[in-house]
Amino acid sequence: MGSDPISTMRITQIGVQQAIESLRSHADGLSSQEAGRRLAEFGPNRVEEIKGEHLLLRLAREFTHFFALILWIAAGLAFVAELNDPGKGMATLAYAIIGVIVINGAFSFWQEYRAERAIAALKDLLPPHATVLRNGIASRVPAEELVPGDMLLVREGDDIPADCRLIEAMGMRVNTATMTGESVPIALSAEPSDEIELLACRNVLLAGTAAVSGEGRAIVFATGMRTEFGRIAHLTQTGRADQSPLQREIARLSRLVALLATVVGVAFFFIGQLLGLSFWENFIFAIGIIVANVPEGLLPTVTLSLAIATQRMARRNALVRHLAAVEALGSATVILSDKTGTLTLNRMALRTVFLAERSLSFPLAERDAVAQHTPFFLIALHCNNLREVAQDGRTALLGDPMEAALRGAARAVLAPAREYPRFGELPFDADRKCMSTAHQTPYGQVLYCKGAPETVLPLCTSVWTRDGARPLDAAMRGRFRLAQEEMAERGLRILLLSFRSLPIGCPQEQWESDLTLAGLAGIEDPPRPEVPLAIQRCREAGIKVIMVTGDHPHTALAIGREIGMIRSTKPLVITGPELARMRETQIQLALDAEEILFARVSADQKMHIVEGLKRKGHVVAATGDGVNDAPALKRADIGIAMGISGTDVARESADMVLLDDNFASIVSAIEEGRAVYANIRKFLTYILTSNIPELVPYLAFVVLKIPLPLTIIQILAVD
Ligand code: ADP
Ligand code: MG
Repeated sequence: MGSDPISTMRITQIGVQQAIESLRSHADGLSSQEAGRRLAEFGPNRVEEIKGEHLLLRLAREFTHFFALILWIAAGLAFVAELNDPGKGMATLAYAIIGVIVINGAFSFWQEYRAERAIAALKDLLPPHATVLRNGIASRVPAEELVPGDMLLVREGDDIPADCRLIEAMGMRVNTATMTGESVPIALSAEPSDEIELLACRNVLLAGTAAVSGEGRAIVFATGMRTEFGRIAHLTQTGRADQSPLQREIARLSRLVALLATVVGVAFFFIGQLLGLSFWENFIFAIGIIVANVPEGLLPTVTLSLAIATQRMARRNALVRHLAAVEALGSATVILSDKTGTLTLNRMALRTVFLAERSLSFPLAERDAVAQHTPFFLIALHCNNLREVAQDGRTALLGDPMEAALRGAARAVLAPAREYPRFGELPFDADRKCMSTAHQTPYGQVLYCKGAPETVLPLCTSVWTRDGARPLDAAMRGRFRLAQEEMAERGLRILLLSFRSLPIGCPQEQWESDLTLAGLAGIEDPPRPEVPLAIQRCREAGIKVIMVTGDHPHTALAIGREIGMIRSTKPLVITGPELARMRETQIQLALDAEEILFARVSADQKMHIVEGLKRKGHVVAATGDGVNDAPALKRADIGIAMGISGTDVARESADMVLLDDNFASIVSAIEEGRAVYANIRKFLTYILTSNIPELVPYLAFVVLKIPLPLTIIQILAVD
């Protein structure tokens, strides 16, 4: 054995402790001082863009595309004419044509450059941050500042900023589609691995992949261009951005018109020859026709309008990720919208707590001694994924506002809040609609579980009362159901809180069973004030708005009415379980309903709704925030991700990111999109009709032998 056995083994092969040591780090992460030193040594954690030459190439292309070539030929011919027959002004013509090429080329280049800058700037607006341990404290830092040895904290929905070795993993699954093309998430663990390929190791998190569920800790071992991702980025030639369907169509049209112009020009040349015009006069004439009719300005103008629209939309909090989305927005006919955070403020407040014997209204009028002793508030305090994070020198509570509301209320009730260390978790999942955390308490191991009553109530076998746990009989179940209905009618979001003690060695799959019901929480989430007007605007513009939520149907309906989305007395409300039983054709027919609302749906059902609408010929805009919303976002014509509450995965699958999560911003963006469409249509009409009047003087010149009313140079100036 050598003096340094670690260095001969791969970071994936060795144990957790050795891995940390090999990077000269610590379980608590690096000190900020050391991190600063390493940043200077290893450089920022970013993938360098390969540009420079690329830009020049682009410039060159602006002078060598189809139209430019036609014009070059025209200029060349004019020079030849000048040589053959000097003094007829042919040189001036040639220079004028070259002038057109240069102006056009420079203009389109500037536009493309601007469009590109606009999009790059948009990307910059989504700063990829990461949470790392520095000096033992979780801090949110720009991902660019990550260095080898940093201890990264990862949770569901996070994008991985650098290559890391897992130190600790709970229910961790990652999607490596960006690296492997494999879209099925793979489960990871911190165990050493003997795989040689980094991609095959189950204990590494690679930059560019995304955590789909669970949470964990990992130590960074490669950053920037030294990551696998950086290597691929280096090898991959950055291809030209996709053109939008409209741009492709316009390019095709321009080419067609240019071809026609050339044919007409050549034809007129021969007709002129037959009529016995002088060769050079005739030649000027033909070139004039070609130049006047080639629609050089068309494509750049369309691109520019789209690019400008993206900037206008950005000012209205909608970041469009590619130009094609502007067009799709302009033709959207349906918006599928989430409820929480999009139609509502996501500013949650606990309003009611329903316990076995009584219900409490929040905020509590005075400290309630009885409430202090119910397990309800212990669950409210512990069962969450909130994270205290140091950001800009302050500690902030990051996470789900609903959990923050519960925790805040619990803090107020339980005077000195004791907190039990947590040793396990079954993460929240929009399909299961519940989550659990496991804690070490003085009374042994305890599981706290909260979630939608529909999922958690069936798992409960007992209920907590003044005299302790009692079997949960039908009468008691009925009381809780009734209380739930009542809260839902008020538009409150309802959670059921429950707990159990965990026998030693109880396998995770059996954690969520035999639960004791502690109570119901009714949480208020008021609608956004701008939403009713936005809904009204949609109605006027003939855009249908459909709410798709994971929440209870009555809660959804109450909110729907409040924002004016539902006005009839008998709207169609379809729940997830009902949707699951419906055939494709039934779904399609149901979508004809004037007012329709989907509640308790899971993410993959959202995708089915999108598909149903598309089959009906709708252009669908759909919102989403979670990891499992990604398929629905991809499938929709315009996938809209939430900028604030959304996960990176959702943002990456989206065509547009809503900076303020606000439904009203979607409507503004659609209005911008429609305006662009209308403008482009006007411009097209102008270009195509102006070509004819430009042609007439030439016809008159040839046929009627009147002097040229507009010289070629004047025509070009008009164009
Ligand atoms: P929405 O469409 O309103 O965003 P979600 O899919 O976020 O709905 O939530 C659906 C249901 O899942 C909620 O009504 C609630 O009962 C439950 N739920 C939401 N968040 C949590 C959480 N953090 N912990 C436990 N249960 C939750
Ligand atoms: Mg949600």
